[in-house]
Amino acid sequence: MSAIADNLQAVRARIANAAVATGRSPDTVRLLAVSKTWPLSCILEAADAGQCAFGENYVQEGIDKIAAITGRNLEWHFIGPLQSNKSRSVAERFDWVHSIERLKIAERLSAQRPAYLAPLQVCIQVNVSGETSKSGCAPDEAPGLCKSIAALPGLRLRGLMAIPEPTDSIDAQRLPFRQLRQIYEHIRAAGLPLDTLSMGMSHDLEAAVAEGATIVRIGTAIFGERNYA
Ligand SMILES: *Cc1c(COP(=O)(O)O)cnc(C)c1O
Repeated sequence: MSAIADNLQAVRARIANAAVATGRSPDTVRLLAVSKTWPLSCILEAADAGQCAFGENYVQEGIDKIAAITGRNLEWHFIGPLQSNKSRSVAERFDWVHSIERLKIAERLSAQRPAYLAPLQVCIQVNVSGETSKSGCAPDEAPGLCKSIAALPGLRLRGLMAIPEPTDSIDAQRLPFRQLRQIYEHIRAAGLPLDTLSMGMSHDLEAAVAEGATIVRIGTAIFGERNYA
């Protein structure tokens, strides 16, 4: 097996163990392979090992990869900061966007989503870490934003996403994930049919799964340390 296939198997085992440990079925957690900075060959290796959902952070890099890979049934998730002047490419090429933090960008994506495609699946990014420099809407803005976005015809609102501050202890890691789940449950109780909690990365996926993650976004543990140079 290739290193990437081995790593994928190890990550799937981590997810399954974390799920079973909290009484969840492993198949309630989807693995999104975050392939930013990695070449096509790595994505194809992961695809050969059965991985079909990939996450990208940079618009141009993502659409170049999507265009270059043909004949495979892959699903592409945009998970990075999105500027309005790049929204059209995302609306036309990606299947999901996890990083919506304001209504304006959602309205653009909805208007720009081609009619021949299924609605773009979207999550609202929420800033649960309380860090002012981080992206995401404020927790108390999330319910109103969800309500407005749920009404946009080109989008299908699926849930919430967060990227908490890195910490080492699993108890500390669980707190912001729990906060995101509580916001999610509050919005569901208000009548919006959310089904997705996008949370957990290589270093904290166990904490995220314990708090109810339905998608974990994993880069380093699959592909190795990124080199941005
Ligand atoms: C890079 C990135 C990830 C993956 O992080 P790893 O620590 O490499 O697993 C997940 N989510 C987002 C939004 C990212 O930018």
